[in-house]
Parts: sequence; structure tokens; C-alpha cells
Amino acid sequence: MMPHVTESAKSVGAVGRLLDHVRLLLAVPVDNPDLARSQLAAFKTQLPLLYLILTINAVLLAATHFRTAPALLTLVMPVILCSACAIRARYWIGQPPRTITPEEAIHQLRTTIRLVPLLGLGFEIWAFNLYPYGDAYAKCHVAFYMSITVISCIFCLMHVRGAALLLTAIVVVPFTLFFTFTFQPVLAAIAANLAFVTFGMIFILQRNYTDFAALVTSKQELLMRQAETQRLSDDNFRLANLDSLTRLPNRRRFLAELDRALAEAGENATRLALAIVDLDGFKGVNDVHGHAAGDRLLIEVGNRLRDFAGATISVARLGGDEFGVMLSGNPLPADIARFGAELCRRLRGPYLLPDIEAAVCGSAGIAAFPENGLTAQALFERADYALYTAKETRTGEAVIFSPEHEALIRRAALVDHALRHADFAHEHWLAFQPIVEAGTLRTLGFEALARWTCPGYGQVSPNVFIPAAERMRMIGTLTEALLTKALEAAAKLPPPLRIAFNLSAQDLTTPETIAAVCRLIAASGVSPSRIDLEITETAVMRDFDLAADSLTLLRQSGLRITLDDFGTGFSSLSHVHRLKPDKIKIDRSFVADIHTSQMARDIVRTVVDLCNTLGLDCVVEGVETDAQLRVLTALGCRVMQGYLFGRPMPEEAMAAFLANETAQVAVG
Ligand code: C2E
Ligand code: CA
Ligand code: CA
Repeated sequence: MMPHVTESAKSVGAVGRLLDHVRLLLAVPVDNPDLARSQLAAFKTQLPLLYLILTINAVLLAATHFRTAPALLTLVMPVILCSACAIRARYWIGQPPRTITPEEAIHQLRTTIRLVPLLGLGFEIWAFNLYPYGDAYAKCHVAFYMSITVISCIFCLMHVRGAALLLTAIVVVPFTLFFTFTFQPVLAAIAANLAFVTFGMIFILQRNYTDFAALVTSKQELLMRQAETQRLSDDNFRLANLDSLTRLPNRRRFLAELDRALAEAGENATRLALAIVDLDGFKGVNDVHGHAAGDRLLIEVGNRLRDFAGATISVARLGGDEFGVMLSGNPLPADIARFGAELCRRLRGPYLLPDIEAAVCGSAGIAAFPENGLTAQALFERADYALYTAKETRTGEAVIFSPEHEALIRRAALVDHALRHADFAHEHWLAFQPIVEAGTLRTLGFEALARWTCPGYGQVSPNVFIPAAERMRMIGTLTEALLTKALEAAAKLPPPLRIAFNLSAQDLTTPETIAAVCRLIAASGVSPSRIDLEITETAVMRDFDLAADSLTLLRQSGLRITLDDFGTGFSSLSHVHRLKPDKIKIDRSFVADIHTSQMARDIVRTVVDLCNTLGLDCVVEGVETDAQLRVLTALGCRVMQGYLFGRPMPEEAMAAFLANETAQVAVG
């Protein structure tokens, strides 16, 4: 018994699988709405043709049987069937072009799959009923009509596989059986023809449908991939335009926005302003409290700027502790001034970082379109210049670029040009200013001060050409040329007279220049212990570690280091400790204020005490009057420099100056 049960179960299973397969072949692709929509779209374009073929073929068949068959078959039924075709055709053609939802597509495909066999059956029954009427030709016409029509319909229904297969089953199977069993060889042959053609067509249809489905799927995938690529590219764009720390727009985005705003302002003849903000005190926080604290500070600054931003104000982080702010909306000069003041006000005020209270503020340089520049680059240069001025003279405030700044820039450009073509060996020379022991008026040495007699311009101040040479990265060459001259002069001076030589900020952070300095001094034959190299604290702060390395190297060569302009920069005790200078030079601004300012007196006294405690030499510069001399002496200053003792003089004048001094001491 058992094998029998198993056999029947197997066959039931096989039938079930076959039915499932058939159901799948006839089904609408519910799980692939895009395929359903594409099927419907393709099918819709072929539909009017389908109904046209059906109608014309039916009319022709009715015509050939008009005289032989009853009116029910040649008039009534064709009219009903053709009307049904016309109604359906009208339904499809009448639909306005619109996007069809997946649900609609599935619904319409289902309706089509139900209607097509009905209509097919209607035409088939009509044709079979016509068959008995008419002669052999007419009978052949019925067979020909049915086969050619069903082939055309299968063709038109190619994209709706279910409908095409149902139609095939409903028309072709009865057709083949019917004409085979007429036992008319010609008609049986036609039936066989149709059966084979249909078989071939179903094969092609199945392949076509699979290709069509694959095409739709690959198009879908392509679209998905395109969307993904677009999303990634949007993400990239966003990240490429965002500063990762502060989440503000970055320099690239800011420049793009500025360009766009400039073009708009140019077209509408409106004004706009660009501010560059630089934090004051940021480096201190970074150096003293570490980079994590520096980062938190930048985030907080970013937040304050974000709060400041609005419809006409855009902000961005340009890099480091530099931020850009743009004011659009046709601001008047008074609006720009208010904007600058408010910007700096918001950046002032304590920054409460965990465990740290940082006293930081922001200086801003502002340039306006169109008066200060027409391009982003020109505005940036002007705003940068104004920022530089703010940092030099009005820390924590906004400076708006002015016509005076423009004149200074023009002059600087002229200086740059002249300096680029200058012959350092001949045009540059040194003036020597005595450094004296105030009590005895004995000269201890000279400070070498650079001079430039520029052909065509005359004397140019070192305050102008030294920064210019730094800017143009020519300072190294200039320093070497000047040091060579200073060493020649030093070689002629009787020991123990000393020579002080100024090094620029850039020299200190350029290892090649430091190496050249050591080399020149070693080659000069002058004892390094007679040479003081003057550096400023601000120079060191540019890159503390590199500068400290340079100083170690210079000290190892036996040179002495003087911290120049003391009191004007950071004047941090920790710097004195780390840099280990041999000498401190108190800035002349304190001397100028010594009568009027108690603070200046206190500072001088404190620095003198500090030097005594640390065992450092102390020089005070800029002494011009006897009164200053007296106060300074009372405060404990011994070594001084200034017009009172001697102005900077050419090298040739030094011998006479020293001889005169010897004579005076002798007289004294
Ligand atoms: P500094 O190193 O502080 O030089 C002192 C400046 O004060 C000199 O100005 C000097 O002429 C001036 N001075 C001296 N005594 C008095 C005084 O009693 N009253 C007043 N009002 N001024 C006095 P100078 O020669 O114009 O130099 C200006 C600055 O240029 C220097 O300041 C220094 O920073 C820089 N510099 C000068 N020569 C060189 C050099 O060879 N190399 C580098 N890197 N910088 C130099
Ligand atoms: Ca100096
Ligand atoms: Ca100085």
C-alpha cells in the first residue's frame, strides 16, 4: 500500500507545483511595483493598435459573411464586440498623462488580465459561429482571421505576460482542436501552423518578458545607485564645506559665498563688508592648557559667531583661530562700524571652559565693497591689513580699512619693489648706538641698527624695511649681510666693548639662518662672548619650540641672548625661565612714561628686581633726558641706552665717540 500512497502524494505535489508555476506566470508582479508600472506604460502605447486590429479584422470577417450568415452574426455581435473595443480604447486614450501609482498600475494590470480573455472569448465564439456559413474560402477566412488576429494580439500583449498567455490558452487551444477535428486537411494544417507559431511565440514572449523585467530591474538598480552616489556626493559636499571642529562653514564655502554675494552686490549696486577675526590670547590657552582646551575655546567662539549670524550675516572658520564674517544687505558705513563693534563685543567676555577661565578676545579687520576692493582677493587683503593694524594698535577691537591704510599699502608696495632690487652690501649699512654704564658714563658696547639708503627714496626706516624683508622672505639674506658688517665693526672695537645685533622673528625660526649666523661669527674671529643677539618675545612666540631650539644652538656657540622690548609682549615669567636670556632690555615706552605713570615706574622696578634675582643683566633703552636718567637710577637701573648718551652713529664716528669719552672720563 505504502508505495501507492507515496506515488499519489508525489503526483499531487507535482500538480500543485505546476499550478503554482502557472499562477506565477499569470500573476501581476505585486512585489515589484516599478515593473508593474513599466509593464503598464509599455502596454498602454500598444493598446490602441490592438483594438484597431481587432475591430478592422472583425469588420472584414463580418463583410465576407454578410450575405450568407444571419444578421445576428454579421451585424449585432460585431457591433457589440467592436463597441466593447472602442469603449476600452477610449478609456486608455482618454487618460491624461500623469504619474501612475504602483497600486493603480497593479489594479489596471489585473483588470486587463481579466478582460483580455473575456474579449478574446467573445471574438472566438463569434468566429466559430460564423464557420458553418459560407463556402470553403469563407471557412478559410475564419481560420486565417482567427490565427492572424490572435498572433497580433499576443504581440501587442507582449509586456503583460499573464494576459498574453491566457489569450493563447483560450484561443489557440480550442482553435487547434476545432480545425483539426474538421478533418479538412487544409484547415487541420492551418491549425498545426498556428500551434507551432504560437509555441515559438510563447518562447520568444517568455524571453522578451524576462529581458524586459531584467531591464526594469537594472534601471531600478541604476537609479538606486545614482541616488546613493548623489547622497554620497551631497555628504561629501557638506563635509568638504564644513569645519569639523566648530561645525561652521569652512574657508572654501565662505569664499564661494563671498564670490556669490560680490556678484550679486555688483549687479544690484549694493554694498557689503568682509570682516576677518583673529583671536587674541588663543595661543596662550593652547600653549598653557593644551590643545584640548584650545579646541573647546574654538568651539565656544564658533557658537558665539553662530548666534551672531543671521539673514545678512554669514560666518565661517577660515583656519586656526581665524574666522570670517560677511555682512550683506547694503550696509552703510555706520552699519559696518556698528557691526564691527558688536562682533568684537560678542567675542569679548570670559570663556568658561571646564576648570579654566580664559581671557580671550577677538580683533577684527573689516573691508567694504566696493570702496576697498572689487574682488574677494582684494577685500581679503584689505581686511587682513586692517586686522594687522587692529592687532598692533587696538587689540580686541574692529578696525575698518581706511584711505590712510591704502596709502600705507601703496608705500609698502614701493618699498617691496625697491627692496627686491636692492644691493644689500652697498645700500644697507649699520648705525651704532652706545650702551653705557650710567653711573660712570663708560661705554660698554654698541647696538648695531640697520639703515637703508635707498637710491631714489633716501633713508628708509628699519621699522619699514625689516617687516618688508620678512614679508618677502628676504630677511635671512639681509641678516647675513648686516651681520657681516657688524662683525667687521666689532673686530675693530677694542675688547671688552660689545656689539648687540638684532635678529628678526623669522631669523629665529629659520634653522638655515641660525646656522649661517653661527658660521659667520665663528669665521669672523670676534669672540662670541662679546656679541649680544637681541630677540623679542613676540618673535619667540611665533613658534616657541623652534625658537627655543635656535636659542640653545646660539648659546652653545658662546653668544649672549638679550630679550628686547621687554614689557611690550607677553612678558611672561615662564618665558624668561624657558628662554634663559642673559640680558633683558626694558622697552623705551616705559621710559617715556616714567614721570607720568606710577605703573611704568612699578614695572621698571619689578623688572630690575627680577633681573637681580635671576642674575640677569638689565638694560633700559630710550633714555632721552637727565630727569629720566635720575628716576631710572633711583629705580636701580645701571646700564642704559638712549639719545641722552649717544644717537645711532655711522661706523666711522665710533672711534671719535670713544676717544671723546676717554677724554671726558680723564677730565672727570
Ligand atoms: P630696537 O631694537 O628696539 O632698537 C631701538 C630703536 O630705538 C632704534 O630705532 C633706535 O634708533 C631707537 N632709539 C634709541 N634711543 C632712542 C631714544 O632715546 N629715543 C627714541 N625715541 N628712540 C631711540 P631704529 O634704529 O629705527 O630701529 C627700529 C627697530 O628696527 C629696532 O628696534 C629693531 O626692532 C629693528 N631693527 C633695527 N635694526 C635691525 C637689524 O639689524 N635687524 C633686525 N632684525 N631688526 C632691526
Ligand atoms: Ca634692539
Ligand atoms: Ca628695543
